Amino acid sequence: MRRKLAAGNWKMNGSRAALAEVGALVTTHPQPGCDVLLCPPATHIAWMAEALAGTPVRVGGQDCHQNASGAHTGDIAAPMLADAGASHVILGHSERRADHGETDALVRAKAEAAAAAGLIPVICLGETLQQRDAGETLSVIGAQLAGSLPASADPRTIIAYEPVWAIGTGRTPTLPQIAEVHAFLRAELRRRFGTAAEQMRLLYGGSVKPDNAAQIFAVPDVDGALVGGASLKAADFGAIITALEGTV
Ligand code: PEP
Repeated sequence: MRRKLAAGNWKMNGSRAALAEVGALVTTHPQPGCDVLLCPPATHIAWMAEALAGTPVRVGGQDCHQNASGAHTGDIAAPMLADAGASHVILGHSERRADHGETDALVRAKAEAAAAAGLIPVICLGETLQQRDAGETLSVIGAQLAGSLPASADPRTIIAYEPVWAIGTGRTPTLPQIAEVHAFLRAELRRRFGTAAEQMRLLYGGSVKPDNAAQIFAVPDVDGALVGGASLKAADFGAIITALEGTV
């Protein structure tokens, strides 16, 4: 059985004072019935990991460099994230693909670097609205999966389907559209990894909120969510965790 996962992506938001939100979350959900991961900006990882020590909530990064060390000013290596207390790292988020020109090959190299450092990669895939309207969704997702997921991927690797047009917009795909992509991803993983594919978690991401979470979590092959805006407030993220617990 795949354990459900609620992952929060704080993006470039939050501060040390936001520790109060994390404290509130673990107070209302001390023993969540699903895995919970928070991915704050890199500067917040160590203090968040410290604040969450002794709780089941894990901390992750939002990106890492493909090299383990070296002359790469401003970048952060996967072993550094692990050293700061991270267990996971989001890779290939559409904002990084758009803002930093990250390619599938680069995302794959980063995923290999993350795994070598003992981190679990959360690899993001998603089509633009233009690609969806052109009927290219599955071919785009298939190409991103083939290019971004290392051949050596551990079954703990997590895939997040995040339609670009649903991120931060309040728009979500229909439930059949989510189901179609998740079924496609599961089939592709089975083709590549055989029975190990059954262990790999597929998250949906894009405007998941307390009021739509339960419906989305009822879709087959949705093993949880990658949540942006709604992960910043303990009350909202807590409600999403509660919805996910209800599906277990
Ligand atoms: C995200 O950035 O991964 C995301 C899903 O954002 P939001 O939930 O705000 O749409």
